[in-house]
Amino acid sequence: MTGSILLSIGFLVAMGIVLAGLLVLAEQRILNYGTCKVTINDGAKELSIPGGGSLLSSLAENDIFVPSACGGRGSCAYCKVTVHEGGGVITPVEEPYLSDEERKKNIRLSCQVKVRNDIQISIPKELFSVKRYDAKLERKRALTHDILELRIALAEPPEIDFAAGQYIQLESREYKGRDSVMRAYSISSPPSDNNHLELIVRKVPDGICTTWIFDHLNEGDPVRLSGPYGEFHISNTDAPIIFIAGGSGMAPIWSMLRDMKEHGNQRKATYFFGALSQNDLFFRGELQNLEQEMPWFTYVPALSREPADSDWQGERGLITDVVAGHFPDCSAHEAYLCGSPGMIDACVKALTKGNMPEEKIYYDKFA
Ligand SMILES: Cc1cc2nc3c(=O)[nH]c(=O)nc-3n(C[C@H](O)[C@H](O)[C@H](O)COP(=O)(O)OP(=O)(O)OC[C@H]3O[C@@H](n4cnc5c(N)ncnc54)[C@H](O)[C@@H]3O)c2cc1C
Repeated sequence: MTGSILLSIGFLVAMGIVLAGLLVLAEQRILNYGTCKVTINDGAKELSIPGGGSLLSSLAENDIFVPSACGGRGSCAYCKVTVHEGGGVITPVEEPYLSDEERKKNIRLSCQVKVRNDIQISIPKELFSVKRYDAKLERKRALTHDILELRIALAEPPEIDFAAGQYIQLESREYKGRDSVMRAYSISSPPSDNNHLELIVRKVPDGICTTWIFDHLNEGDPVRLSGPYGEFHISNTDAPIIFIAGGSGMAPIWSMLRDMKEHGNQRKATYFFGALSQNDLFFRGELQNLEQEMPWFTYVPALSREPADSDWQGERGLITDVVAGHFPDCSAHEAYLCGSPGMIDACVKALTKGNMPEEKIYYDKFA
């Protein structure tokens, strides 16, 4: 009797060990799910890949870089793709990030979808031209007390094609126990300089990537990035433009303005730049020069917390009030906004109040 109990216990322990081993093998992708076919955009591209990995990493291993800020941990929700078939059920990690409408459209977080059988997906076709770059930090300079400009020289590949307004994903290095992460930064240089990328970065207190950029990244250091991403770019119409930005939201607008100048684009444009005080303004001289060179362009800096007794002669107050003061009716304009989600939401509200149709308001939220 005791012998058979011992035998059963022994059998159960052995089964447990085998099961744990299988789980470890599955985790390490040694357990073979076979080769799986990933069909992208109705067959525009087909991949044959070893099953078992996440859709996000499997695509990256095949040079298709879906944006992701959290490195596949399911906490940024950047990596959404449409999974038509073969993606399994929505995982608990994905639940909070998918709206009812997105679920109906089969949108999933690609970092949480495991490739275990043939799978059919759709991704924005622009992602086919995203590449990963090895580069070097050529210059790092302070623009204000909490904003830096980085100039990066591309090494391999040495050139990038992008449209003014797009962004890249910069990969931070590990430091002081903090993991490497990827973060989005808008390109501030014009597309004509395709061997370099300039970025404008605002320090976020205790932020992983910005602490690395400000305190650990030095001129001459290697840098890794991927891009270009995003659909924030100037339309082809003739409508007069209202640009609105705050802080490092300057970046894509600065790229757009330099691109407009280089192409002799004569669309009427007014640029409202919101800051707290004169200490937070940068590129003032450059933007004033641009006003001289492009008579159809006007630069309007507005300060919300400048001391009342200072020598500031320009606009004061919230950027929304300043824009409304200049354009009480902006129904004929298009708007391009960039900055914090709070600023953008407030500006969208103000512009629609001024009769601008929502579909004419384009923005990139630095969420
Ligand atoms: C399309 C796009 C373009 C962008 N372009 C630019 C640009 O041109 N310039 C620019 O400066 N920024 C830009 N951003 C923002 C940028 O991508 C980063 O979000 C920003 O730099 C902060 O990154 P970080 O790693 O330093 O901060 P994170 O480490 O992501 O932290 C952000 C904040 O969250 C807090 N936090 C972090 N983890 C936790 C936690 N577990 N619990 C509670 N709080 C937490 C941190 O303390 C910090 O205050 C852009 C964003 C997007 C989406």
